Amino acid sequence: MLEISNLTHVYGSGPGAHHALGGVDLKVAQGELVCIVGPSGCGKSTLLRSIAGLLHPTGGTVTLGGKPVERTPDDLAVVFQDYSRSLFPWMSVGDNVALPLRRKGMDRPRRREAATEALEQVGLAGAEGKYPWQLSGGMQQRVSIARALAYRPALMLMDEPFGSVDAQTREDLEDLTLRVRSHHDMTILLITHDIDESVYVGDRVVVLSKAPATVVGDLRVDLPGPRDQITTRENPEFVHLRAEVGRLVRGMRDDPGAAS
Ligand code: ADP
Repeated sequence: MLEISNLTHVYGSGPGAHHALGGVDLKVAQGELVCIVGPSGCGKSTLLRSIAGLLHPTGGTVTLGGKPVERTPDDLAVVFQDYSRSLFPWMSVGDNVALPLRRKGMDRPRRREAATEALEQVGLAGAEGKYPWQLSGGMQQRVSIARALAYRPALMLMDEPFGSVDAQTREDLEDLTLRVRSHHDMTILLITHDIDESVYVGDRVVVLSKAPATVVGDLRVDLPGPRDQITTRENPEFVHLRAEVGRLVRGMRDDPGAAS
């Protein structure tokens, strides 16, 4: 459903130009949860912004559902790391979740119903009338995920979605992501710098090289489901895969020329 072909991106021009993407090729099938990992600064967010139509890459193509991405596709939702800036503080939680549904032409009662259902799915039943600033960081990120779910996107992009919460909340949100994806026929692309997380939540882990980024590893994760924070992480296959991904990422980090 998503096809990225020889994607390149250069920021700026002349001697100060920065080659962020060096020809990324990637195919994602309907219903897959693909994690993208790579060294910090390698171009992960640049890749995600290109898929979201938020950035015009300097070369290559992105097609979603067979159509080239030229602007933000209608059936796409993005969950960013910084939940505090992605929710409107003056709007109630319910209104924040329902807002994008206006684009779908849904009337007010249907928008409310969809928001209530999505909030239930993320464990925030009854929080509609609260304001984002009345909730913890982890709860605010649940609201962002509920907003994406309510929209029922064909593709959900997640950019370091659990990077700003504590370790316990992070595990809860990883499990929430696994739970909700099993209820929806949704394709998810999740960017993370956390190797263990990529193996724990992914059906596939795609490893990017340092900038200019190319795909240097594409590993299938065949772990028995449902996944569980304790037993999955001690499964020999999990241990093997995290070492494999770690080697691919760390091998680049050890390179003296690698991005820090
Ligand atoms: P990652 O998400 O892997 O940390 P990014 O895609 O954010 O990496 O950035 C890749 C590289 O491109 C970084 O070196 C970053 O400094 C640079 N970069 C990102 N955005 C811009 C921009 N708007 N202008 C110039 N350079 C940028």
